[in-house]
Amino acid sequence: MSYRLELQGIETVTHDTRHLRFVRPKDFTFEPGQAVELSLCRDGWRDEGRPFTMVSHPEDAMLDFVIKIYPEHDGETEQIATLEPGEEVELTDPFGAVTDHGPGTFIAGGAGITPFIALLRTRARKQALDGCRLIFANKAEEDIILREEWEEMEGLETVFVTDAEGDGHPDGPVDRAFLEGRVDPSEGHFYICGPGGMVDAVRDDLKALGVPPDRIVTEEGW
Ligand SMILES: Cc1cc2nc3c(=O)[nH]c(=O)nc-3n(C[C@H](O)[C@H](O)[C@H](O)COP(=O)(O)OP(=O)(O)OC[C@H]3O[C@@H](n4cnc5c(N)ncnc54)[C@H](O)[C@@H]3O)c2cc1C
Repeated sequence: MSYRLELQGIETVTHDTRHLRFVRPKDFTFEPGQAVELSLCRDGWRDEGRPFTMVSHPEDAMLDFVIKIYPEHDGETEQIATLEPGEEVELTDPFGAVTDHGPGTFIAGGAGITPFIALLRTRARKQALDGCRLIFANKAEEDIILREEWEEMEGLETVFVTDAEGDGHPDGPVDRAFLEGRVDPSEGHFYICGPGGMVDAVRDDLKALGVPPDRIVTEEGW
């Protein structure tokens, strides 16, 4: 099934990410952490869907996305940056993805935070963030998506990691040396989502530190 939605609003989150708002169709249901293929109703783009994750709560009246724009790709996200309210998009049924297996450590790289937005917001509503920690890696401080929201979430411990030296945040990458001494392999689940080879690399590092594979939850294909 597909759903045609009209864009209600588009706002800047960070310099290269946008918050898109739609009205959620009543028959569109999903689990926190799930994604859809989103395509634009523009000539040349109707068959060019890309996967994006809903960041709003499944019961909210609105359906929200946070999308990173890659002008250098000459792809859909460059088009998304130029969308105007009133334009239409098409969504597939939801699929995937990272679902909540219990409290633990959420390790995200850049836009890989999006499935965790949904999961952590849902936990925040239930006041169920005790034992949850967000390790969020970015190139620089200005890339941190929704920083204030994370810092204000009661019970959530935050560690922002950047590649920029001297900004007060621990330096990346989030590798075995970084994780050793910072995480307790015997406690909680470990959720990983990020671009490129990050998921595989962090999964291997966690396993090497003694985290059993059944406590590692990943989102593939970024
Ligand atoms: C399940 C899932 C959920 C996701 N959810 C989100 C989300 O909520 N928010 C979000 O921001 N992202 C999300 N992503 C990632 C998102 O899907 C991609 O960032 C997006 O598809 C990129 O689309 P694009 O059209 O800009 O570029 P692409 O489709 O990656 O590429 C378009 C063209 O650019 C070329 N290209 C690719 N890389 C480069 C490069 N480095 N330099 C030059 N050219 C290049 C490609 O060859 C291709 O021809 C998700 C991914 C998955 C798998």
